[in-house]
Amino acid sequence: MVDREVKGLLTDWLYEKVIAEVSLFIFLRLSAILCCAPGIISAQQYNNVVHPKPADFIVARDSIFVFGNFSDPATEVFVNGNQAITFPNQTFLAMIPVAPGSLAVHTLFQTPEESFSDSRQVFVPPYIFATPAETIAFDTTFFYPDRNISIKSGDRIAVIVKGTPGGNVYCSLDEETIFKLKEVNHRRRYRWRNTVFGFDNPWQLPRVKGVYVGFFTATDEHRGRAFSPFFTLITRDEQVRTFRGRGTIHVMKNSGANIKKVIQDVTIFKNSRNQTFLTALQKDVLVNDNGGYGDYSRVRLDKKQILWIPRRKLQTAIENLHVEEIPLSRLQINRATSDSATISIEFLSDSIVPFQIHQSTNLKSFILKFWHIQKMPAILRNDYIDPLFHKISGKMFAETGYQFNLNFTHKMVWGFDISAEGNKIITRFYKSPVPAFDRSKPLLGIKICLDPGHGPDDGAFGLTGINEKMITLPYAELLREMLESRGATVFLTRENESGPSLQQRKLFAEANGADLFISLHFNALPNGVNPLKVRGTSTYYYHPHSKPLALAVHRRMLRQSQLPDKGVHLKNLAVCRITSMPSILLEPAFIMQPFEETQILDMQFREAVCKGIAQGIEDFIAKYH
Ligand SMILES: [Zn+2]
Repeated sequence: MVDREVKGLLTDWLYEKVIAEVSLFIFLRLSAILCCAPGIISAQQYNNVVHPKPADFIVARDSIFVFGNFSDPATEVFVNGNQAITFPNQTFLAMIPVAPGSLAVHTLFQTPEESFSDSRQVFVPPYIFATPAETIAFDTTFFYPDRNISIKSGDRIAVIVKGTPGGNVYCSLDEETIFKLKEVNHRRRYRWRNTVFGFDNPWQLPRVKGVYVGFFTATDEHRGRAFSPFFTLITRDEQVRTFRGRGTIHVMKNSGANIKKVIQDVTIFKNSRNQTFLTALQKDVLVNDNGGYGDYSRVRLDKKQILWIPRRKLQTAIENLHVEEIPLSRLQINRATSDSATISIEFLSDSIVPFQIHQSTNLKSFILKFWHIQKMPAILRNDYIDPLFHKISGKMFAETGYQFNLNFTHKMVWGFDISAEGNKIITRFYKSPVPAFDRSKPLLGIKICLDPGHGPDDGAFGLTGINEKMITLPYAELLREMLESRGATVFLTRENESGPSLQQRKLFAEANGADLFISLHFNALPNGVNPLKVRGTSTYYYHPHSKPLALAVHRRMLRQSQLPDKGVHLKNLAVCRITSMPSILLEPAFIMQPFEETQILDMQFREAVCKGIAQGIEDFIAKYH
């Protein structure tokens, strides 16, 4: 979840940045909110507000939910004077309006005999507001660029500032470069991110007046210079205010290559239009630094392919390297081998080059790209070819790139991985682990890694006070029993409340030679989203080879859960990025949805959901073995 990537073109930076920062902030805040344990509820008298926690920061657009539980079934609950909805399992839920600033949440638990009250203060950080029309001012908290930025001659970037609406705003970069900004009816796009695992939903905020936008295109004359934007606001009644932004725009000196060396391995997962890529820059590879923003450098592999990588992973000054262009390498297929489980292809280049692997959604073909390549490599010789191979072909692209298209005969390549040792790049394709399919023991010989989500962190909370960490474990244990009875060998990534990191969960699965990876979670919503309306069963995957498993399991799980269908989604989640085996993440129900929480705690529901998952795995094996 944490390895976010920075993306976008220079002119998109404002929007991209706002979205990235807001969603990250929301994510962090929500994780914090929902990770606070209310303690185990005793059998005695109790009245608990589970959410929000006292003194918490709440990121919300217009409303938050307040939920918790009580012991006396005759209790009525009021939150800030409004009656909350109560449920048969002695829980309550209320939605209350919020505005930025400090907010008091008063919860009154009223029984026929007595009352108990809970007061807590939370804080709602402000989001963007229009600067009041009666002021004459710049809003010095909202401008762009807000940190140092480096660009090349030819790049066009947006310059943005906010102030009193209806005025004229100019930006001067130096004595000659002065341009007028245009007031836009700005509507900030805003995304909330599902609490722990889930998908993003766009939010639309009200339009904000007084946001002024202009564009600066760097030319050769600007090369080697740094500019600090200076803004002038002239109001309708000709009052004047000025403001100097804090980020400088640095136009890079060199119009050609600006070569840097990568000093730490970089792996970037990207998805665009439901296509996934894994791009790797190994230590010591040379790249073209094409500008940057704050702590990130923009590396250009070719005209289309840009990567944003942390500046600290690039060596800025390369000693003994006086080259104008990155030297090109010859690329060849060194050898290809195959056995009953794997097909390996080893590539060799003169020096370390960037590479990328991309599986096609037809599941049978891959594109392997290499950059900084000088000429046609040798194509695979016939005597290497495995029966699983249909075809391998290659071609140059984008001047110095070379791509291989690999086609397999089987309906699905089980998994793949790619690694590099110096200038040797090895790709492995895994064959189905099921040599012969037996209907009576459909999972015989299959090794399954089950991952009960969370632990030691709590994950999301429900109204009764249960959390994901507590509840995913018994589900995984029951599922293990069911899978073992069908012949599978099952490993759990954790057997108690503490658990390994997401990366360790992946390594654990691989070390045990697992054939499938299945992560169990329960869903949650951020503030402002009505949990009475947004709910249901959902499934997540990332690389195409995991999609058939996701579809098969979702179909059966949904049939058993009998909840609304929240769909199968491609999502860049750490545990779904495993390439060596199909890996999926399941959210059978919403833990913080009153009805679904009751279901989650119900033994029959647990059995039904686990049965559905086991049937789905079986369907998948039957179809794709
Ligand atoms: Zn979770």
